[in-house]
Amino acid sequence: MSTHLNWIQEEIQALKDAGFYNQIRTISSPQGAWLVIDGQRYLNFCSNNYLGLANHPRLVEAAKKAIDQYGVGPGAVRVISGTNDLHIELEERMARFKGVEAAITLQSGFQANTAVIPALIGKKDYIFSDRLNHASIIDGCRLSGGKVVPYEHCDMASLDEVIRQNRGQFRRALIITDGVFSMDGDVAPLDKIYAIAKKYDLLLMVDDAHGEGVLGKGGRGIVDHFDLHGKVDIEVGTLSKAFGVVGGVVAGSATIIEWLRQRGRPFTFSSAVTPADAAACLAAIDLLESSTELVDRLWENACYFKAEMKKLGFDTGVSTTPITPVMLGEAPLAQQFSRALFEAGVFAMANSYPIVPQGKARIRVMISASHAREDLDRGLEAFVQVGKKLGVIH
Ligand SMILES: *Cc1c(COP(=O)(O)O)cnc(C)c1O
Repeated sequence: MSTHLNWIQEEIQALKDAGFYNQIRTISSPQGAWLVIDGQRYLNFCSNNYLGLANHPRLVEAAKKAIDQYGVGPGAVRVISGTNDLHIELEERMARFKGVEAAITLQSGFQANTAVIPALIGKKDYIFSDRLNHASIIDGCRLSGGKVVPYEHCDMASLDEVIRQNRGQFRRALIITDGVFSMDGDVAPLDKIYAIAKKYDLLLMVDDAHGEGVLGKGGRGIVDHFDLHGKVDIEVGTLSKAFGVVGGVVAGSATIIEWLRQRGRPFTFSSAVTPADAAACLAAIDLLESSTELVDRLWENACYFKAEMKKLGFDTGVSTTPITPVMLGEAPLAQQFSRALFEAGVFAMANSYPIVPQGKARIRVMISASHAREDLDRGLEAFVQVGKKLGVIH
């Protein structure tokens, strides 16, 4: 027997022993307030489907129509023969929605980060990056070859200091932050970060994956939330969270977007999302532009759930967005809590080290506009029951 893959078995066993092995559930229903797993219905507290668009009839209809008209595949990478009019329309509509000059779509938010960072930053350059930035930002930074200098999470004194320490060392530099941090639900102080970017004349990029469709007027995102239109060089986004479909986007000046059509490697060397995906995203923009109803309902639900959880005695951390961490401390307790919720019919994930710091394990509840008040009440009941049983509340 060959032994050359034994090291993988050992690594996997180590993950299991340490409680870091991902147990992935299989869903056999559309994404919505409820999910079917192994033939049973579960209340869904862990999807990023903020506005309930993942199975919205208008998006489903648009995707079906696009399949009838265009078929299912994009044919080639976009620079050869894979750009169709739906991709262009989506980019124009996205730019208008975000209030920027131009936008380019990628296959995912992850790809958007690996496209834009290396296109702007090279070996002679520096990146100042929030310590808690998303993995796709970290990978985009690595691919760029630039020197990455982390600053303490949302700490403006730390950002200013690391820039001052490194001034004169670089050709150009980029400050990068997540807009909404996905584990804690806190919002980056983008207005203050902008002031620092301006003071030192640096490029500024925000990854608004959890802010689009959530923050700002009718879900226009973090730049709108802080009224910084025209001041942030690059906005990265995803079409897989609030937009309910799949894909990534980079929005900003026409100059940067033109450059990405030439030098964004995931754009030039990998095929685009399908016409059905693009059509569904267009229908999502139609919905968001026609009414703020879904965004309003998302916030109403989030405020209700958070307020009730606090009344019950749970610690919901520092979140100011619909992301609701329920802080539990040690990883085994968070895992036990998640399992007990599942037995009570609620699907909510435990997050522990290394995704969050040691001793800060939690259940992360993702509230959606698709939850009815009764759904939230069902969830609250389960939290009371499990919280009392495990001694988290009294
Ligand atoms: C989810 C997320 C991404 C990845 O988006 P995908 O479209 O799923 O690839 C990128 N950045 C941040 C901050 C995210 O939260």
